[in-house]
Amino acid sequence: MNTFAVATLQEEVRGLARERGAVILAHNYQLPEVQDIADYVGDSLGLSHQAQATDADTIVFCGVHFMAETAAILCPDKTVLIPDPDAGCSLAASITAEQLRHWKSQHPGAVVVSYVNTTAEVKAESDYCCTSGNARAVIEAIPADHQILFLPDMFLGVWLERVTGRKLTIWLGECHVHAGIRPADIQLWQTEAPDAELLVHPECGCASQCMAFGNDRTHILSTEQMVRFATQSPKQRFLVATEIGILHRLNQEAPGKTFEAVSENAICKYMKMITLEKVRDTLRDGKHEVSVDKDIADRARLAIERMVAIA
Ligand code: SF4
Repeated sequence: MNTFAVATLQEEVRGLARERGAVILAHNYQLPEVQDIADYVGDSLGLSHQAQATDADTIVFCGVHFMAETAAILCPDKTVLIPDPDAGCSLAASITAEQLRHWKSQHPGAVVVSYVNTTAEVKAESDYCCTSGNARAVIEAIPADHQILFLPDMFLGVWLERVTGRKLTIWLGECHVHAGIRPADIQLWQTEAPDAELLVHPECGCASQCMAFGNDRTHILSTEQMVRFATQSPKQRFLVATEIGILHRLNQEAPGKTFEAVSENAICKYMKMITLEKVRDTLRDGKHEVSVDKDIADRARLAIERMVAIA
């Protein structure tokens, strides 16, 4: 699509959102042209806060399915629409509620902490949810004598063990996009870009190894923390190890600074399933409503509200 066609479609989408009284929320990994029509762009935690805070009756959620589900659980009186209901997540798919019930039965009394990248059914079996932005605070809020089952991301789990000093029992799941960013990618940049700050997401396959570099220009951060860090830092050049959609937001929020992807292949095909045309169709036709069974939603809400409460 050429620039004019994109701008025309964006105008149409904004017009439909106004007519419908809808708020558009977009994740940091969305396509740039989708981020640009959103009322709010952020990470999972930020989007959950925005879903709760909005007065709009309709939320159009530009992200993957578990995120829209989380909004639907937090806002049972609102209509939550997703432009493509098939936008899944390899990490969320790495554990089912049945697998979690079996795991829990092997560890009676353990506290279950689920990363937000899980289905509603898995959240309903969990004591706490967390995002990469508050995972450390959630772990630290749990008394030291409690066993913790952490799921589903093993790289985030290993990183949490390092930063909290707690031994966790970790589910061996991974996000194929972040797992694909390997220590060798980072090692290369360490030597080839000595003037750059390195921003690494804790889901990455290299995150725990990065901590071992022990230098002060390597930072393990959630995407929201990356944006804050880059805008506040006096440095000019940043290498970014996460899904490359975040580069658009970084460029918008810290103009004049240089942001480069550690791996150009770090692209989430699920996030990119949300296109402007699909956002337009969703708003125009009111389609792809996301709803969660009440009993599951009520149980999942407890874990999600604990996540939202721990900043
Ligand atoms: S980047 Fe990974 S964790 Fe995020 S939505 Fe895509 S598959 Fe899931």
